[in-house]
This record gives sequence, structure tokens and C-alpha cells, in this order.
Amino acid sequence: MAEKRDYYEVLGVSKTATQDEIKKAYRQLAKKYHPDNKETGDAEKFKECTEAFSVLNDPNKRKTYDQFGHAAFDQTAGGSNPFSGSGFEGFNFNGGSFDDLNDILSKMFGGGFGGFSSRGGFSSSRGGSTRGDDTLMRIKINFMDAINGKTVTIPLNYEEKCSSCNGTGALHGTEFTTCSKCRGTGRVLTQQRTIFGIMQSETVCPDCGGSGKIVKTPCPDCGGKGYRKVKKDIDVKIPAGIQSGQQIRVAGKGERGVNGGDNGDLYIEVIVAPHEFFKRQGNDIHIDIPLDFVDACLGVTVSVPTVYGDVDLKIPAGTQPNAILALRGKGVKDLRGNGYGDEFVHVNLKTPTHLNKDQKKALDDFKKASLNGDNLFDKFKRAFKK
Ligand SMILES: [Zn+2]
Ligand SMILES: [Zn+2]
Repeated sequence: MAEKRDYYEVLGVSKTATQDEIKKAYRQLAKKYHPDNKETGDAEKFKECTEAFSVLNDPNKRKTYDQFGHAAFDQTAGGSNPFSGSGFEGFNFNGGSFDDLNDILSKMFGGGFGGFSSRGGFSSSRGGSTRGDDTLMRIKINFMDAINGKTVTIPLNYEEKCSSCNGTGALHGTEFTTCSKCRGTGRVLTQQRTIFGIMQSETVCPDCGGSGKIVKTPCPDCGGKGYRKVKKDIDVKIPAGIQSGQQIRVAGKGERGVNGGDNGDLYIEVIVAPHEFFKRQGNDIHIDIPLDFVDACLGVTVSVPTVYGDVDLKIPAGTQPNAILALRGKGVKDLRGNGYGDEFVHVNLKTPTHLNKDQKKALDDFKKASLNGDNLFDKFKRAFKK
């Protein structure tokens, strides 16, 4: 297969293009290359720009693409790529992108745009089998589980190709006749009026549902449906260091295929709950710690929590309010093994609000011991008058 072109290049937009610019660019290209367009139609180019759009139009997928490029969407990578960001292969349009696509295309083709649906469309092979759509589910995990990784058990309900009839629904997988309406092609031609004039388009045959076959003797194991419902708990390994919004692919657990096609994949989007004290930015951790002003003046060593346990931090004498001290390498372990992030400790200096007699006297003495009893504000005022 030829090297894939950069999605931004395909759409002719810059990497910083707004969602609107991306939509606009796609609208123009789709109109130009749509296979129904007799003059400039080009199915390959149409596919290419539609694929680029389906990724760049989805802010999450776009982010993943910006970070990892085509590799993030390469389904052949299998289990080695736990965060494939996309839910499509061979053009199964799911979720928000598909709504947008449908919207754009139906506006272009006057609403009656046929032959392009989330199932079928360009991905279906005529009269043959079609792979099922990918599905997306979300799970919520707690903050520390995202840091350390965890295996979660997810109860799944999905449909699986019937093994007795290999998904055909016919006894032994062979007891069927050819559909007379479509003569076995699974597709029928329809005409419709569009802004480009009358156009012919193909749709799935209503009699056989696109299989091109009519079942003569139904398979007894699935009642002729070709699939069975499965209820199963699956264990999903969430890798240490995963970030909120990243997805894990579970192969073959998406929607069932049609006419013996394979199931789509299941994508599990992991949502990480916030922590009471730790805030995560990439692989870095931020934490606020309260500090007495005396400790800030004199310096102190404190035991600061990190995601991997407490660590001693030397706070130097004369630390200012809102100072940020770094604990290098005490952040989150990188998902792909590129070391650790840092922890940033934000010093939140506290001024005492209630002083007892001794404290008050000590501070008065401190003031007297300061240079001429002079204070910063007096110095500021003198500078102001100059
Ligand atoms: Zn069966
Ligand atoms: Zn038919």
C-alpha cells in the first residue's frame, strides 16, 4: 500500500486550522470528488479526503493524530498499540464525525443522499460480507489507577457470528437460493433528483438485505439470524500512565458484521477522575502545599506527597509566596516508557491570623531587630516620592 498522505495536506489546510476551516475544506473537496459527480468525481480521492475529515473533525481524534500520526490509527498494530484513538477502519463512520459528514453530504446532495450510511456505503463488498461497525464505550477510573495501571472487568453484551452457519443463517451455511430481486448482487439501482440533476445511486437490496441470498433452510442454532447474543465479562488491561480521554481497543467486540462479516472493534475511552490534591498535566504532577511564613523565612525540609509516595523536599530559607519547587522525575511514568514526568510543588504561604501573647512579642522583637525598624513599605514609599 502506498504511504498515507498527511491528513492536513489531503484537506489542504494548515495544522492550526479551525474546525470550521476543516469543515469548509472538506465540503469543497467532497463535492469535487464525490463519485456521483460526473465531471470531477474520483472515488479514491473522495475516500482519502473523507477519511482525513473523519479524523480531523473530531477534536479527540485530531489530538491523537497530532501526537502520534497515522500510527495511532493503524489497526494492524493490534494489541501493541493500546491507545488507538480512532474508531474506524474501512470507513465505518461512528459518532460525531459521521453526523457531521452526513450533514455536509445531505446539504450538498439535497437531503436525499443515498448509498452512504454508517453501514454499507463504500466499505461494503457487493453481495458479500461486511465488517461490523466499531463501537465506543466509556469507563471511569480513579486517579491513582491511571498512574499505576489496572485490569478492569467489563460486562459486555454483544452479538457474535454464528459458527454453525458461518453467519449466513442457512443450514450448514449452504441452504440458500440466489435473491431474484438483485440477482445475487445485493444492490439495487435507484434514481433520485439532486442539485446536479438526476443521479443514479445504488442501495442495499431490500429483499435480501444485501447478502444476495435468500435462506432456504434456516440454521437451527441461530434460528436463521446468522448471529447469537453473547454475554461475557472481559478483562481489560489499562496501562500505567494512561491519560483521560485515551482509548483502548478491544478487537472483535464491536457490532456484528453482516452476512458473515467480522465484528467491528470495541473502543473503550478511559475517563480519569480528578484527585483531591494531585493535578496532572501530561506526565507532570502539580500539588499545592501550605507553608508557615516562619518556615519560609528560615527554610525547612518537608515530606511532600508524590504519586509514588512521600519525598523529602528542602524548602530554602527566604522562599517567596507562590514559589514553585520542582521534584525532578517524581511525576508520572510515561505510557510509552519515556521516563518520568516531574512534580511541581506550589508553595502556598500562610500568614497566621490569631497570635498569642508570646508570638506577638516575638514578632515585635523581630521587627525591632530588623534594620532600623524600617519595613518594605516605608522603602517603597520613599522610592515613590523621588
Ligand atoms: Zn447459524
Ligand atoms: Zn437481493
